[in-house]
Amino acid sequence: MSAGNEVKEAKKKGTLFIVPTPIGNLGDITERAIEVLAQVDAIAAEDTRHSGPLMQHLGIKTPLITLHEHNESQKTAVLIEQLQQGKSLALISDAGTPLISDPGYTLVRQCRQAQLPVVALPGPCAITTALSAAGLATDRFTFEGFLPAKPQQRRKQLSELATETRTMVFYESPHRILHTLADLSTHLDSEREIVLARELTKQFETYLSGTAAQLLEKLTADRNQQRGEMVIIVAGQRKEKVAADILPEAQKAMTLLCQELPLKKAAAICAGLYDERKNALYQWALENLNK
Ligand code: SAM
Repeated sequence: MSAGNEVKEAKKKGTLFIVPTPIGNLGDITERAIEVLAQVDAIAAEDTRHSGPLMQHLGIKTPLITLHEHNESQKTAVLIEQLQQGKSLALISDAGTPLISDPGYTLVRQCRQAQLPVVALPGPCAITTALSAAGLATDRFTFEGFLPAKPQQRRKQLSELATETRTMVFYESPHRILHTLADLSTHLDSEREIVLARELTKQFETYLSGTAAQLLEKLTADRNQQRGEMVIIVAGQRKEKVAADILPEAQKAMTLLCQELPLKKAAAICAGLYDERKNALYQWALENLNK
């Protein structure tokens, strides 16, 4: 079905379209995205001042409504009402895919609860763009969003992720990148390979790789590498290392406890007894006890 017909159909039912917009290069918007944005009744945008110029560039005159993290709960009710009246709406954010570290969750959740159709268009997203070119394992990965800004919480979160065996993807802002790299070097295995993907799809797109300490050195030596938008991709902890880090007595206790208790409970008790990390024990049991 062409996007034009798709929107005509949608108008009969009141559909919400989730429309990704470019993360840098304007050429990355899809034909279908342009058609949907041009034909819906209104576009809910995170910041109309930001999206206005993009709409002008695309020659789109559809009215814009603001929907950002501070007004999402009150605006959602209004938008749901419009959808129920059979209007079609598009949701966009400042850049990339809405709901991915961007507003829209409340609206989509309530649409689903009200059984209103939600149609997502594929398109730009910094996670998949960075991951697909970083050269780290992509068969399994976790998206961790932004780490907490407060140092103590950030370090706690990183400690909890120390045994994660999947590739991890983080968003980060330029003014925190040096602190985050320093914390990555002390709270995760210092040998872990990290890729810093910066200014994706833009003029100064760069991929830097190395350990956290090596990246910290590179960024400290060249302030330009601290600028712009960035994604941090961290290789997962090697499975042998996760097991090697756990005391043999704790492994034995975990094996016994898991015969009687649910894995989560066994890990919590064992963590208390042997001063081990609960997550590490949980992960170890998953991989070694056929749980
Ligand atoms: N919804 C967006 C998406 O689909 O990627 C993400 C929005 S989030 C508020 C903004 C963060 O995404 C930035 O701080 C950065 O970590 C990442 N990001 C967005 N555009 C990027 C780009 N061109 N290059 C690198 N990272 C980018």
